[in-house]
Amino acid sequence: MSIVTSKEMFKKAYEGGYAIGAFNVNNMEIIQGITEAAIEEKAPLILQVSSGARKYAKHAYLMKLIEAAIIDAEETAGFDLPICVHLDHGDTFELCKSCIDGGFSSVMIDGSHHTFEDNIKLTRQVVEYAHDHGVVVEGELGRLAGIEDAVNVSAEDASYTRPEEVEEFVAKTGVDSLAIAIGTSHGAYKFTAAQCTRNEKGILVPPPLRFDILEEVSKRLPGFPIVLHGASSVPQEFVKIINENGGKMPDAVGIPEEQLRQAATSAVCKINIDSDLRLALTGSIRQYFNEHPDHFDPRQYLKPARANIKKIVQHKLVNVLGCSGKA
Ligand SMILES: [Zn+2]
Repeated sequence: MSIVTSKEMFKKAYEGGYAIGAFNVNNMEIIQGITEAAIEEKAPLILQVSSGARKYAKHAYLMKLIEAAIIDAEETAGFDLPICVHLDHGDTFELCKSCIDGGFSSVMIDGSHHTFEDNIKLTRQVVEYAHDHGVVVEGELGRLAGIEDAVNVSAEDASYTRPEEVEEFVAKTGVDSLAIAIGTSHGAYKFTAAQCTRNEKGILVPPPLRFDILEEVSKRLPGFPIVLHGASSVPQEFVKIINENGGKMPDAVGIPEEQLRQAATSAVCKINIDSDLRLALTGSIRQYFNEHPDHFDPRQYLKPARANIKKIVQHKLVNVLGCSGKA
């Protein structure tokens, strides 16, 4: 099995009423934790790399680690793990081209900060090059609030996707999937306290996702795969572990998993999850350091951190995305 595009994955996900998890990767432990979960659950997988991750780890390291995960799946589990390698938030044609030339099977061109016309022009340019090389493309309409690596959008600059634009955008660009903004947000602080209510435990409850926009978009684009970014749930048990072990993350809040589960049964075929893995990793390491102040071997604290990544990914595959057993 080699690296595959998301075309077949999305087709089956759309028809089957589930979504594929797209998890961000930066290093070996994260890649291992995610792929071990996917192998155990026999789940199709998208590993995505942001431009920041590519700068941090370098393209070749990430590609070789992903190839190693595919070899490991074959050798240890006898399983052909289908992995799509995707560029998250490509912002220029040159970056997308470099990833396509370097073996990615999917790229996102995020022209959502441009005018509608310029977004179409840039996206079209990437689609032409990508399709010539057997690579698929994700575009974006509407802007998510929050911070993700180089992407930083304030709440005032954020905007929901306008359903009346989607048909023209897809027809003129030829994109294979479309990221839309329906109220998800990047990072671990998705909403300010003022945007939320508080439940009886004092935990922030965010405003619900705009399923009406999602429904209108999918009516206008029948059978077309939709993507949700910024879809971490920011599990409060991780935030608690971090805060109890020297961290300081007050009022970190995410998207409730029931809403993501609902989205996964609709036209949404790809759900991006990054912050939850960061929280699992950080919580685990903070707790380990607190409990073992004399330890200094990275393997000692990275091993439980990797196991925690596997656990949270497994939970997402089974209980949120519904893609367990679909590979
Ligand atoms: Zn994103």
